[in-house]
Amino acid sequence: PVTGPLTFAGTAVSLVGIEKSFGSHTALRGVSLDIRPGEFVALLGPSGCGKTTLLRALSGLDRIDAGRILIDEQDVSGVPVNRRDIGMVFQSYSLFPHMTVQQNVEFGLRMRRVDAARRAARAREVLEMVGLGDRGGRYAHQLSGGQQQRVALARALVTRPRVLLLDEPLSALDAKVRVQLREQIRRLQRDLGITTVFVTHDQEEALAVADRVAVMNDGVIEQIGTPEDLYRRPVSPFVADFVGLSNMLDGVARGGEVEVHGHVLPVLGTTVEGPVQAFVRPEDVVFTSGDEGVDAIVVASSFLGSLRRTVVRAADGTLIAVQHDASDRREPDDAVRLRFAGHPVVVRPR
Ligand code: ATP
Repeated sequence: PVTGPLTFAGTAVSLVGIEKSFGSHTALRGVSLDIRPGEFVALLGPSGCGKTTLLRALSGLDRIDAGRILIDEQDVSGVPVNRRDIGMVFQSYSLFPHMTVQQNVEFGLRMRRVDAARRAARAREVLEMVGLGDRGGRYAHQLSGGQQQRVALARALVTRPRVLLLDEPLSALDAKVRVQLREQIRRLQRDLGITTVFVTHDQEEALAVADRVAVMNDGVIEQIGTPEDLYRRPVSPFVADFVGLSNMLDGVARGGEVEVHGHVLPVLGTTVEGPVQAFVRPEDVVFTSGDEGVDAIVVASSFLGSLRRTVVRAADGTLIAVQHDASDRREPDDAVRLRFAGHPVVVRPR
């Protein structure tokens, strides 16, 4: 029952071949995804790629045209939203303005006809959990944006849902609160062990919080993997471009290698041959004092805290970004020599 101990037995979720169109526009083209019990998965992609559509399909807010949705191996494809046992938090603060925080959090329990005493105790317990134990008597307009989202989170968790769905819950907050709240959500999620799907278009946010990130593009999942997988072993130019920053350097590919500025680098997972662009991470370009390397002139250097990013121009005019230790200062017009760290790179034909 909803008022039992506040624990979450991790729930597995499977999406199998989900298709969804709006009129003539296909938003999801056969999306499959297996989420493990207790896992935190982020759906990441540019605007319009289908993230929200996939989340709404999972929640039951929208019907799907084809495919199956399994929650703990039970096919819920035809089950309405209020019987899927799902908690949701949206981007906009969706608290009821005429109810106190406590009443907002109790709402789901009231709908399930839990008696007043038990509902009050459970709501207090969950508000305590999100650090708002002393705010139960307030109204939404008396809270900051971050606090309102914590209430929304408490309201989503109070009924002990099997799955938690978060649709850009941080994007209306300012930068500092956004980072604090994402860390709080992550800690809570891990402590509770609740299976969570988080939609965001912010790659840094996705990499920071998720166990695995599914990168979506035009209605399909291009790649799913750990943050490290996506960053170090992107399967396509789209993923390499969307996750992290890259220099796109002209090169020539042959036999699983690419020659860029006189250096030979291994190529990740394609058989493209001939003229290509190679995606080289700024931290994979390093200054060298050796005899061999690419000669260049510093154009600009920006301080990023512990790091510095310096843009240089090679003799052929190519601009290359170099990420390096902040203590290594480079000034505009300095002559430098570069080499490549030799990590495998993604290429695409040019
Ligand atoms: P965003 O971050 O901008 O919300 P998204 O990745 O979440 O992007 P979706 O909202 O899932 O994208 O939309 C995917 C595509 O489906 C878009 O082209 C969108 O215009 C279209 N779409 C979504 N909902 C509807 C709807 N109710 N009616 C018509 N088209 C829709």
